[in-house]
Amino acid sequence: MALMSLRDVVKHYPSARKGGGPIRAIDGVSLDIEAGDIYGIIGYSGAGKSTLVRLINALERVSSGSIEIDGTDITTLPEPKLRAVRGGIGMIFQQFNLFNSRNVAGNVAYPLRVAKWPKADREQRVGELLDWVGLSDRARNYPDQLSGGQKQRVGIARALSTKPRILLADEATSALDPQTTEDVLGLLRRANEEFGVTIIVITHEMDVVKSICSHVAVMEEGHIVERGEVFDVFSSP
Ligand code: ADP
Ligand code: ADP
Repeated sequence: MALMSLRDVVKHYPSARKGGGPIRAIDGVSLDIEAGDIYGIIGYSGAGKSTLVRLINALERVSSGSIEIDGTDITTLPEPKLRAVRGGIGMIFQQFNLFNSRNVAGNVAYPLRVAKWPKADREQRVGELLDWVGLSDRARNYPDQLSGGQKQRVGIARALSTKPRILLADEATSALDPQTTEDVLGLLRRANEEFGVTIIVITHEMDVVKSICSHVAVMEEGHIVERGEVFDVFSSP
């Protein structure tokens, strides 16, 4: 059974203009993501990627269709149970979304506080993660004292802190230069290999998909127009 299965997912929004038809941001998407995949979802601006992210982490409800994670349809779960679902999905973002008022250790510790880990366990976990992302000497620095690549490494450490099974990377390298992008992608690859975390990579950059993804779905206007192993979908002549 796939770790995540989307079936005929539709999300529409009311039209912005009077008398207009609804905007079908996601227009019948079915997708299976297996445990251990690094699954790329690629498409131009407006294809529906951000909407899909908000549906997968249950920030928004589908209009119709189902999204199963580990066999549980999250589209019918009540809000309190959705919090647990979100807790099982680590998120990293284009703009990093770090807390500027917390230092590096505090940012990484944040999800552990929310999950009510005891202080000693938090300290140990934060130390382990900062070591893993190579930022042990930056624990007391604040985000504005870090480079973009370092910020994203903090973002990755924070996203992995509670040991989620799924990591959702939403344009996670789009604000980074090519060398830093490679470093960050290397870290994601290691997270997949060492911890077995399933990674969903949302991007408009084909190089990112070619660099780390095993599978890819190409989105256009709310549909998946092509999918498969990266090697087959993007085979070069
Ligand atoms: P992408 O992330 O691939 O750029 P989006 O998911 O942001 O695509 O947008 C897909 C379509 O849905 C676009 O036409 C966008 O204008 C529309 N859309 C997204 N969010 C909303 C919303 N909250 N209200 C109305 N329309 C929206
Ligand atoms: P508090 O110390 O009040 O719990 P925070 O939650 O902001 O405040 O601290 C972040 C966590 O990271 C704490 O558990 C803290 O002890 C721990 N921590 C701070 N500095 C380091 C460090 N250099 N290496 C590992 N863990 C650290």
